[in-house]
Amino acid sequence: MSLTRRTAAELGELMATGEVSAVEVTQAHLDRIAEVDGQVHAFLHVAAEAALEQARSVDSRRAAGEQLGPLAGVPVAHKDVFTTKDMPTTAGSKILEGYRPPYDATVTARLREAGLVILGKTNLDEFAMGSSTENSAYGPSRNPWDLGRIPGGSSGGSSAAVASFQAPLSTGTDTGGSIRQPAAVTGIVGMKPTYGGSSRYGLIAFASSLDTPGPFARTVLDAALLHEAFSGHDVMDSTSIHSEVPPVVEAARHGDVAGLRVGVVKELSGEGYQPGVLARFQEAVDLLDSLGAKVVEVSCPSFTYALPAYYLIAPSECSSNLARFDGMRYGLRVGDDGTHSAEEVMALTRAAGFGPEVKRRIMLGTYALSSGYYDAYYGSAQKVRTLIARDFEAAFHQVDVLVSPTTPTTAFPIGERADDPMAMYLADLCTIPANLAGNAAISVPCGLADEDGLPTGLQIMAPVLGDDRCYRVGAAVEKAFQDRWGGPLLKEAPAL
Ligand code: GLN
Repeated sequence: MSLTRRTAAELGELMATGEVSAVEVTQAHLDRIAEVDGQVHAFLHVAAEAALEQARSVDSRRAAGEQLGPLAGVPVAHKDVFTTKDMPTTAGSKILEGYRPPYDATVTARLREAGLVILGKTNLDEFAMGSSTENSAYGPSRNPWDLGRIPGGSSGGSSAAVASFQAPLSTGTDTGGSIRQPAAVTGIVGMKPTYGGSSRYGLIAFASSLDTPGPFARTVLDAALLHEAFSGHDVMDSTSIHSEVPPVVEAARHGDVAGLRVGVVKELSGEGYQPGVLARFQEAVDLLDSLGAKVVEVSCPSFTYALPAYYLIAPSECSSNLARFDGMRYGLRVGDDGTHSAEEVMALTRAAGFGPEVKRRIMLGTYALSSGYYDAYYGSAQKVRTLIARDFEAAFHQVDVLVSPTTPTTAFPIGERADDPMAMYLADLCTIPANLAGNAAISVPCGLADEDGLPTGLQIMAPVLGDDRCYRVGAAVEKAFQDRWGGPLLKEAPAL
């Protein structure tokens, strides 16, 4: 079997037993990138030399008898919103074109410490704002299942890279759904850890109270291995949780739902959902029942207000976070010709450097935070946030996990929602509640919708620091689907 078709866990073992070298594994993935990324456009930057160098170092450390971790030598594609000191970091924006950070994000540093080989930086919606990668200043990525469709967003380069076998693993960030939604629409696994469970240090900020780094992979176990590699407490992030990483790898190895109480969220289905998505979701619920779970319906009435609350809170935080891009400190500078004042240079730089969606959100957020409107908008949204957290609390008194479809529809055609922000925002209808409350949530493949043959995702939500439950249930579902279909859902990237 080609090395690019292997799971990360398998590659780790093949390298540990000396059957293949990290250089061979890395080269196979670089060849695959050269072969297909012209069509997929998952990467903004391919770091071939740095990757091979890292692979050589893993091989020589292993040859010297060093005991290395399970992912040493395994390639990973890294979302271009994490700082990397040896590679450009753009956040998908023109305003950071050519920016080379002087330091590594904690997630980047931990990838390197675990011996992972960073293949390059992946495409994203500008500053992680979007659900399709169409807001990237560098053009959209494409869904390997149908190159005319979106791979989800904002981490769409990362989902496309893994779904097209250019990397077994990738990193993402999830502020309102940017890991789970791209995973669902490309047929892979994507996990949003508990907020504060993975470090935001060196992650270019969008909405600081929501941003959460997490893993993408083609199997639940691989996602857990990557999750474990880069998560855990970080003194550099003041919102980082002081506790052990939940036992995610152990859970992923022992998928089991017997006796588990599963709540189907009443508010996350029905009108507006694609029939094929709902059909696959119902099958997954029946499957959980047949595996011994106790399935009940649970109502979370405030979830209905999650989307509007998010679209006040996230833009408010972004309007503050993006104030630092002033043309003075990083990247682009426009109008610095001696004829303009500093304020004019800042205005010209921001006008030229930010795309339309980022400007829309800065304006929305500035408005929502302005005096006289603060209580009506931002303040009310924060109250809704509390109600959503209470709905989760009440639900988790009744059940161990909650489930829903990950997205209301399968991947939509590129261009279809580009001029309709409201339609675009609806892609995250099911994922946003877990961000507002800070819970753990995963998306695992849930079969193909009948009407278009495209992947759908099952979302499994767990309490804060209950990340291992997501993996335990995800692994049980994955195994049951494999038994039924005789292999992993994603055997081929069909369009390539
Ligand atoms: N699609 C959502 C938005 O546009 C979520 C993005 C994200 O999670 N980064 O804000």
